[in-house]
Amino acid sequence: MSNHVNPEVPPGRGVFCNRTLNLRSVRAIGYDMDYTLVDYRVDAFERMVYAQARERLASESWPVHGLEFDGRMVTRGLVIDTELGNLVKANRFGFVKRAMHGTRMLEFAEQRDAYTQTLVDLGDPRWVFLNTLFSLSEGCLFAQAVDLLDRGALPRPFEYASLYRHVRAGVDAQHMEGHLKAEIAVAPGRYVVQDPEAALALLDQKAAGKKLLLITNSEWSFTSKMMAHAYDRHLPGDMTWRQLFDVVIVSARKPAFFTEHGPFFDVVDETGLLRPLSRPLRAGGIYLGGSAAQVEKDLGISGDEILYVGDHMFGDVHVSKRTLSWRTALVLRELEGEVSALETYRPTELRLMALMEEKEALEARLSQARLALQRLHTGYGPAASADAATLDYRVQDLRGQLVALDAEISPLAKAGNELTNARWGLLTRAGNDKSHLTRQIERYADIYTSRVSNLLHATPFAYFRSPRGSLPHDPGAQA
Ligand code: IMP
Ligand code: MG
Repeated sequence: MSNHVNPEVPPGRGVFCNRTLNLRSVRAIGYDMDYTLVDYRVDAFERMVYAQARERLASESWPVHGLEFDGRMVTRGLVIDTELGNLVKANRFGFVKRAMHGTRMLEFAEQRDAYTQTLVDLGDPRWVFLNTLFSLSEGCLFAQAVDLLDRGALPRPFEYASLYRHVRAGVDAQHMEGHLKAEIAVAPGRYVVQDPEAALALLDQKAAGKKLLLITNSEWSFTSKMMAHAYDRHLPGDMTWRQLFDVVIVSARKPAFFTEHGPFFDVVDETGLLRPLSRPLRAGGIYLGGSAAQVEKDLGISGDEILYVGDHMFGDVHVSKRTLSWRTALVLRELEGEVSALETYRPTELRLMALMEEKEALEARLSQARLALQRLHTGYGPAASADAATLDYRVQDLRGQLVALDAEISPLAKAGNELTNARWGLLTRAGNDKSHLTRQIERYADIYTSRVSNLLHATPFAYFRSPRGSLPHDPGAQA
């Protein structure tokens, strides 16, 4: 259910609610930085990570020179099957609905053979969920590496699982080693999307008495550059981003931040000099590491009084909800394109629903005619309403009508399955059903929205109410 009353706000920029949340009873709002407070141009960012990881593989004599990042090849919410070298899209029950081996989409029969007996279970290390937009370079490079392995083009043997670990280590290294962050820091304008409304949303929340916390896995030097670039110009007078936050925590090591009791360090000066922290967190402090448990203790705030806003399905939202029962908001940047595609598709969807109703009615009549014929032939049950020839004709006629109807339905359904991405379709759906990503959002994110600045329109006083929910047996519900 969207909570925007302002008709000026496009539907895709609403704040959607799974679990009722009254912002008035929230005392602190914690924010993740990357892809939450600071929005990046995904293609530019991921292309660079990809290029650097590819160079590393090239230096190990992998034939990767012709390979390019393709931002449409994978999406957030897909799952890497490290055993079979596939990327798959699963529905809310874990059934695989589409699959790609290397960079080739599997035919229906291949997919069925590979996965009829197998459910995606994220508790099993075989499966790797693509949690954020940072996962796209890794997914793309892995798919292309599988093609190379299958062609026998790699300099040494791998199993798909060890291949995945190798690619992953290559991508991981780019984030850790500093060249990537250095390049972005030199030309942040190329990578960061400015959103002046995000600054105003935070000012509103602060003035409404909320404590604001920044909790990021990024290191101090990168955090200070990105936050200054994205916020300072949109703040009044000489105010800087630092004055927005009561507490700033960098290199937080989420998800361990939520589950363990790591020590905090004081970031003593701009160069990032550290000192072990021996007293409670203080307003205006910059800290490194630490734990959510100590944040709760030192600020005197309990889990359900803290709203944490982040883009990482597992590290920001799932773990903070499961471990500490924090209130949670997922930032899902792709939602705007998703909602707009659904709006454009709406007339087709209505037509499709009407045709499906027709189909169901025909199927019911066909079942009745077949049953009457069966009873007549076998000689049991009530007297038939027509003779065998008439019933036979009816069965054939209904079958013909169904074939014609299916021919009309299938291009409409296909178009629906290809919205926003021809290979994978909408992030939030898997065929007619909810996607595995949607299932996790429902379970762990109290609210979800496309960007932080959507909270501006909601105001710090918003009361987000969850929809009543519908069940297949509700009167008027679609079964
Ligand atoms: P946050 O979203 O503000 O918590 O920060 C995310 C941080 O994680 C950024 O500094 C990213 O560069 C970093 N990051 C993203 N993906 C990876 C990875 O695969 N390995 C290591 N660090 C990563
Ligand atoms: Mg993030």
